[in-house]
Amino acid sequence: MDNFLLSIIIPVFNEEQNIEPLVKRLIPIVKNFSYEIIFVDDGSKDKTVVNIKKQTFKNKNIKLISFYRNFGHQMALTAGYEIAKGDCVITIDADLQDPPEIIPQMIEKWQKGAKIVYAKRSEREGESFFKKITATFFYQLINLLSDIAIPREVGDFRLLDKQVVTFLNNLNERQSFLRGLVSWGGYPTEFVYFKRDKRLTGKTHYGFFKMLNFALEGITSFSVKPLRIATYFGFMSGIFGFLGIIYELIRKAVSPQSFVIGWAGLFTAIMFIGGIQLITIGIIGEYIGKIYQEVQKRPKYLIREQINV
Ligand code: UDP
Ligand code: MG
Repeated sequence: MDNFLLSIIIPVFNEEQNIEPLVKRLIPIVKNFSYEIIFVDDGSKDKTVVNIKKQTFKNKNIKLISFYRNFGHQMALTAGYEIAKGDCVITIDADLQDPPEIIPQMIEKWQKGAKIVYAKRSEREGESFFKKITATFFYQLINLLSDIAIPREVGDFRLLDKQVVTFLNNLNERQSFLRGLVSWGGYPTEFVYFKRDKRLTGKTHYGFFKMLNFALEGITSFSVKPLRIATYFGFMSGIFGFLGIIYELIRKAVSPQSFVIGWAGLFTAIMFIGGIQLITIGIIGEYIGKIYQEVQKRPKYLIREQINV
């Protein structure tokens, strides 16, 4: 297939300095195809929107949707998928950490039949040791706990066939852990490798707690294993307690005169069980919270403005 439409979705949140360099680097690569570039402004507070508008006036293939407020990276991507008309749809970060130069390779793999082409990081530059460690831990944990396999060192830089985009758009759920949803379908998948550069300007929006929340979101969206682990904890402490009672009964029968010692043991046991109980309630709470949000059925995002769409 030579005659196809390529959609590029770019979520942006306070990236004013990166818009022009990104467009300059992207256009020479996509101009050989029929293309649309969709910027999704996730409630930026700086000149991001102004700078995107300049581009949309110059080039009608560049489009903008902008949100009333910050709804989050995943929601921005979701909005992009809902608007994109392309036969294949590529999502890419605005900070030029994802090199647009590998887009033709991704398209080639798609044309050979892949429905999903992930850009996989073979190297990360300019990211802190801490970020690398937490990222590794995140992938390990999520693959251990969840029921789907999420490929490692793969972010949100990927190509999806129209069929996969339609699948995503038809999902009737609010949670938007896209990396999980994309791999859940089991569509034929390919990889293209790249070296992850430094951010062009600005700094990451994903700090420690945001990463942690993202990880929890991913795990609880794709697995009920934490609930099962909570149940096992309950069984374990129950069995311990039961054995303790038997032990005490036997001791009382064998040597009734022995007196009570072991305050420290008692204290640690209470703290330990108390901790497990709180964690367990927290785990249940996570899932109840998710059910609550699904039931509320609030819109995922609100669009303030659209240009060239
Ligand atoms: N982003 C967004 N909404 C947010 C946070 C980030 O649309 O609330 C965009 C951001 O502008 C960038 C992409 O998502 O284009 C990835 O964000 P970032 O570079 O901060 O993440 P990192 O690369 O450090 O994981
Ligand atoms: Mg980045």
